[in-house]
Amino acid sequence: MHDDRALVEARLARALRERIRPAVYARSVPLTVAAWHAPGEPVPFAEAAGQEYAPTAAGEPWGPPWGTTWFRLTGTVPAEWAGETVEAVVDLGFDADRPGFQCEGLAYTPDGAPVKGLNPRNAWLPVAARPGEPYEVLVEAAANPLIDYRGYVTPLGDPRTAGTAPMYRLARADLAVFEREVWELARDVEVLDHLMRRLGTHEPRRFEILRALERALDALDLQDVPGTAARARERLAGVLASPAHASAHRISAVGHAHIDSAWLWPMRETVRKVARTAANVTALMEDHPGFRFAMSQAQQLAWIKEHHPGVYERVKKHVAAGRFVPAGGMWVESDTNMPGGEAMARQFVHGKRFFIEEFGVEPAEVWLPDSFGYSAALPQIVTLAGSRWFLTQKISWNQVNRFPHHTFLWEGIDGTRVFTHFPPVDTYNSDLSGTELAHASDNFAEKGRATRSLVPFGYGDGGGGPTREMLARAARTADLEGSPRVELHTPEEFFRAAEADYPDPPVWSGELYLELHRGTYTSQARTKQGNRRSEHLLREAELWCATAAAHGLAGYPYDRLDRLWKRVLLHQFHDVLPGSSIAWVHREAERAYAEIAAELEEIIDGALRALAGEGGGTVTFNAAPHPRDGVPALGAALTGEAPPSPPAAEHDGTYVLDNGLLRVTVDRRGLVVSLLDLVAGREVLPPGAAGNLLQIHPDLPNHWDAWDIDPFYRNTVTDLVDAEEVAPAGPGAIRVVRAFGSSSVRQTLRLRPGARRLDIETQVDWHETEKILKAAFPLDVQADRSSSEIQYGHVHRPAHTNTSWDAARFEICAHRWIHVGEPGYGVAVVNDSTYGHDVTRQPRTGGGTATTVRLSLLRAPRFPDPETDQGLHRFGYALVPGAAIGDAVREGYHANLPPRAVPGGRAVPPLVAVDDPAVVVEAVKLADDRSGDIVVRLYESLGGRAAARLTCHLPVSGVQECDLLERPLPAGRTPDPGEITLALRPFEIVTLRLTPA
Ligand SMILES: [Zn+2]
Repeated sequence: MHDDRALVEARLARALRERIRPAVYARSVPLTVAAWHAPGEPVPFAEAAGQEYAPTAAGEPWGPPWGTTWFRLTGTVPAEWAGETVEAVVDLGFDADRPGFQCEGLAYTPDGAPVKGLNPRNAWLPVAARPGEPYEVLVEAAANPLIDYRGYVTPLGDPRTAGTAPMYRLARADLAVFEREVWELARDVEVLDHLMRRLGTHEPRRFEILRALERALDALDLQDVPGTAARARERLAGVLASPAHASAHRISAVGHAHIDSAWLWPMRETVRKVARTAANVTALMEDHPGFRFAMSQAQQLAWIKEHHPGVYERVKKHVAAGRFVPAGGMWVESDTNMPGGEAMARQFVHGKRFFIEEFGVEPAEVWLPDSFGYSAALPQIVTLAGSRWFLTQKISWNQVNRFPHHTFLWEGIDGTRVFTHFPPVDTYNSDLSGTELAHASDNFAEKGRATRSLVPFGYGDGGGGPTREMLARAARTADLEGSPRVELHTPEEFFRAAEADYPDPPVWSGELYLELHRGTYTSQARTKQGNRRSEHLLREAELWCATAAAHGLAGYPYDRLDRLWKRVLLHQFHDVLPGSSIAWVHREAERAYAEIAAELEEIIDGALRALAGEGGGTVTFNAAPHPRDGVPALGAALTGEAPPSPPAAEHDGTYVLDNGLLRVTVDRRGLVVSLLDLVAGREVLPPGAAGNLLQIHPDLPNHWDAWDIDPFYRNTVTDLVDAEEVAPAGPGAIRVVRAFGSSSVRQTLRLRPGARRLDIETQVDWHETEKILKAAFPLDVQADRSSSEIQYGHVHRPAHTNTSWDAARFEICAHRWIHVGEPGYGVAVVNDSTYGHDVTRQPRTGGGTATTVRLSLLRAPRFPDPETDQGLHRFGYALVPGAAIGDAVREGYHANLPPRAVPGGRAVPPLVAVDDPAVVVEAVKLADDRSGDIVVRLYESLGGRAAARLTCHLPVSGVQECDLLERPLPAGRTPDPGEITLALRPFEIVTLRLTPA
């Protein structure tokens, strides 16, 4: 037998592309088109429908970047189409090579009911009009620019720079007969073609399919595809009916659309994207009874509710029927590296509460396919939120190391384990092609021990979600020889089956570090500062409002705090907080953070004044969980004038600060050349090294500019050692001014009285491109690991590069502090707004190894925001010599929660107090159910055991341990209200609800 395989495959490809697919709409008539170009931002249907529409036609341009054009399409279904299925085909000018990320539309009936979205690979509308009847539809078309995320400098990411030239041409607006048999034939051929190409050439099945396809082509009249499609399909029935192998991999296909809440478009466009996709999938449900769809991110459903009530009604109906499935339980699919502990918890509190209140549904899985690494605090947080399962697939993007498992138990810092799945299909936007299904099966690492994986399918980000074509593929691969078995499932159905299938999965302990996108800890510094500041203002607002309310001095602003929390949570979305969105998004985020801060400052101020009462004294409030300068933790004291710091002493151009605890020497270059710890009697810097050294590296990664730092950045470095000015700056302070490149920096180094901490305030006027700015502290400690604060605890990471896994963590995320040490002595670096750090080891003059901690202050990528981080910035950080982990924890809180002094007449005893400094109070608030109960969340912060007594300033009649949603835990603690004692295990989080007597 001659081998003509390539010839037949090429014949098949051409017939499918040029004859079969186009024949689905072989008969069509054009619709009459009129357009109204909305002058600015999107408007509601009622406003758009009443405008003057001007005639236009297919082929005409429309849509300046970010503009909206409304098309009115009218026509009459031809009488000769009686008995046919008629559809409208509307191609807005789609690039079919890209399923989303470009122009999109939402169609409405003339009376404003949403019909269905229009997307690049989903450009049809159902037509109910009968032959001879008129048809009319309005399409709200969005001219979203296609911003190529593979990275180049573009002005399109902000309407201020994007220009006004139309970007799209209306390509087609027709009424057409939908040739169902041709469409089915196209699906038969696609499925068999994909399957065939993934089978080995040694397998008989491959050739059985090849010959069946050849016979089908022979049966097809290319001049009359509609008339011969059924005959061709008969030739394929046999190979399509052959059942799957007994050992075939089992795939749970979960309908989904990954919609970034903002990214290469602003949030207002996501409001429309989610409505289009929800309109599509609810329309698809009407025609496909077995189809279910999982939608994550409560915020997106809240947007549909607010802005598209007609779509929301359809969503609610299908949720009630169990077909539209609220998934994931989070407010948004947030980043998990940077949100603080309380914010990470509130992602679940607000997400789950929305799903419970709106739909009566509580998701048990966490759905985070696409954020950039997963904190080791998550297993405990997830469990305390009442969830059982975790899903992501992003770790498949690792640059270096292949993650060993696809299904496993993920163990967090406190030892909690969560059943976790990484879909081996390696995408969260599958189209259920045979190629992807085969990859899932081939790639699945648990083969032989487990049999099933999950495939999320549907076009995301404006692609419109799952399509009828995908459902057709799923139906054909349910039981097909050579293919994995595909079943349509919900996330819950998958996880229940997967747990039963794999009772003894392997364990992965610690963080799921993503070996990619390490620049996201640093890009868009103002967005990150806004997040950090907002989190601490929310803590203060809850604490002081709860304290004032419990004493009957003020009401508790439930609604305002709820709204402010949700706004902060939204901005933790995994392309906003990480700094990977277009300029428009970050400009709006900065404005949002300014508004959030202003409102929270007002709320805090009101509570403080109510608490401080009348009087001419100064009342100093301490929102930190540890006492400070005579003020109790979580309370306030009447305070006097603080003693002044001694001035800097100058000798031969060198300045010395000395507060009796530390002696800091700053040379003519403005570098710290000696830092003597007078308490410990040791020099903190290694011999010959200088601290507070600012360093610049070139920073152009190979891909993903705002996301990535590639390791070669370190090969070139410029030390900023030329100072324009080094001078005293008031008591206990030295000012250092430098200029470099197109930028300048102004620093104040300060030693406060009684503080074993060198504070450094840094202002940078940053005008570099594709560079990274680091602040370095070489330290004379021999550390083989660093400790970094994460949510409710910390993680250890190796400081060495022994293995490829260690070396890949060359840039790491820390919250308020990072610590390095050796037995008996450690040093912490604390910050008020920085997340990116690196820790390295160097040979030490005189022997041994020294350790350098650096903060990553600024980057300057040019994609997707060409002006990333240009302009003025302010950073606060401090070096804390002689610090144990507990000192790092305390100083980290203090750096982010400065004391507040207000005029008044009385001290404020803490509403709650804890007698063990290892046990940290993270939140004090009133219960969300508005019962007046006080909710206290605390955790063990050192990674050891703790026994603590909690005292409440008010009499308490009941104490109940709760989950994060403030619901009693079935086996929770119920301490004696008169004597609240707690034994905590390492890093344990405890939420208590105290009922006032
Ligand atoms: Zn995403």
